[in-house]
Amino acid sequence: MPYKAEYIWIDGTRPTAKLRSKTKILAAGDEPPIWGFDGSSTNQAAGHASDRVLQPVATYPDPIRGGDALLVLCEVLNTDLSPHTSNTRAALRDVAARHESQEPLFGIEQEYTFFRGSRPMGFPDGGFPAPQGGYYCGVGADEISGRAIVEKHLENCLSAGLAISGINAEVMPGQWEFQVGPLGPLDVADQLWVARWLLYRTAEDAGISATLDPKPAKGDWNGAGAHTNFSTKRMRESYEAVIEAAEALGRDDKPAEHIEHYGVGIEARLTGAHETAPWDRYSYGVADRGASVRIPWQVEVEQKGYIEDRRPNANVDPYVVTRLIVDTCATALEKAGLA
Ligand code: ADP
Ligand code: MN
Ligand code: MN
Ligand code: MN
Repeated sequence: MPYKAEYIWIDGTRPTAKLRSKTKILAAGDEPPIWGFDGSSTNQAAGHASDRVLQPVATYPDPIRGGDALLVLCEVLNTDLSPHTSNTRAALRDVAARHESQEPLFGIEQEYTFFRGSRPMGFPDGGFPAPQGGYYCGVGADEISGRAIVEKHLENCLSAGLAISGINAEVMPGQWEFQVGPLGPLDVADQLWVARWLLYRTAEDAGISATLDPKPAKGDWNGAGAHTNFSTKRMRESYEAVIEAAEALGRDDKPAEHIEHYGVGIEARLTGAHETAPWDRYSYGVADRGASVRIPWQVEVEQKGYIEDRRPNANVDPYVVTRLIVDTCATALEKAGLA
């Protein structure tokens, strides 16, 4: 029996890339080969030389189709097999290899919002729901919208073998979160992209769209982020290393460099209100959800663990945020003799 392979890749749409996918039928037992696509339709090529290459980098059982079907995550290459400029995974590969000996781990909290048509789910037509307060981790039809899709998405992620570690309803109606990790930088970013694809695909069957818009409702409503939790082997053993990582993110031009690549529209989300720190002022603190970087209270108690960078937007590229954090922190830890 031939089987279905869904090739998934990240396109060249600016300012925020989109997921694309198409299906290849393969003979039973065949590994998914290199494939191609029309880059002029994905902002990845001009029309006169439009071929781009899909290089499979990771496969997962396809929970949508079941059976032998696979999800095939790909890097986009040029026809000379060099990485395409939109391929941010290639840069992460190099940086992750350089710091591999520090055994970096990431857990990413992906927040997102369901939309029915042009309104967030749970927002009445032409009006607004009751103000924020009861929706976070809520229960009941007066507080919760979209749970059936969320449960189906969780099942699909588990069936695909993804290291999804939890889900919760968020502060705004129709807003939810799932977490992936802890995993190494390449795995967490690959799996987050696949989990996003499964989110869109699962919601599609219910006639609902999901968005990673960092500020999906204007006004007094929380934005959507992608808190990025990070540790190295030494940080998991020593509080001194935890503090050094938090300090390193605030040194020199690092705050500006990170903010620039933490997702489009970050200034509108990191205002200083709604559990955020202002985008142009770096801070860290224990148990402080109003700081750029939070050291969880158990980490202080246990004197070891990880840090949470609360700045990344929901629409951040996980290949970029993991590359920046591992490079900034692992380089500093090495310099400080804490590698
Ligand atoms: P919050 O309290 O901020 O909502 P969550 O429970 O949503 O936290 O997410 C915490 C994330 O941190 C999870 O994805 C978890 O896997 C991850 N995590 C836990 N320990 C570590 C660690 N040592 N290094 C990196 N990530 C970690
Ligand atoms: Mn969380
Ligand atoms: Mn959250
Ligand atoms: Mn968090």
